[in-house]
Amino acid sequence: MKIFIIPIEMVRGGIFDDLRRGLTQVFSADVEITARRPITEEAYDFQRRQYYANAILDDLADEFIIDKKKERVLGILDADMHTDPMNFIFGLANHKTACSLVSLARLRPEFYGRKEDKRLFHSRIVKEAIHELGHTFRLGHCTDWRCAMHFSDSVEDTDAKKAGLCLACRRKLSSRLLKEVR
Ligand SMILES: [Zn+2]
Ligand SMILES: [Zn+2]
Repeated sequence: MKIFIIPIEMVRGGIFDDLRRGLTQVFSADVEITARRPITEEAYDFQRRQYYANAILDDLADEFIIDKKKERVLGILDADMHTDPMNFIFGLANHKTACSLVSLARLRPEFYGRKEDKRLFHSRIVKEAIHELGHTFRLGHCTDWRCAMHFSDSVEDTDAKKAGLCLACRRKLSSRLLKEVR
């Protein structure tokens, strides 16, 4: 399995080592960070002052023609985004295109008036990236709040989960990895 990480517009480099490590562990994947790509401006909603995540995800799917049996795409965007009917989301994924997307904007402690904490920030990114990539393997939301596939409504939910999957999700993932990679 190969995971392509696509920085969309400006993403500061410091996050990628932890991200690579976390994703390699969970998905036994080879992780490649590609060149930065511009954002599709139609995705910006001027009234909401947020990006429409679906438009960015579709754009990634159009741009990256991948082999879904052995490749995945994860876009990283450092801007706030939403989807219908949610006011904001940490990430979005589409298993049909094998593309996923994570926004960094609301994962920073500073967004909530807290002081900067790189370790916490990076751990949130890894967890949300595992979550969205998990969806590309058709993993659904998990009821175990410690599992990365548990839905995060807030960063408190994200902080409660681990940067890994519960046993049930791990089993589902490995059966799908076996089927897909073969
Ligand atoms: Zn989800
Ligand atoms: Zn789980």
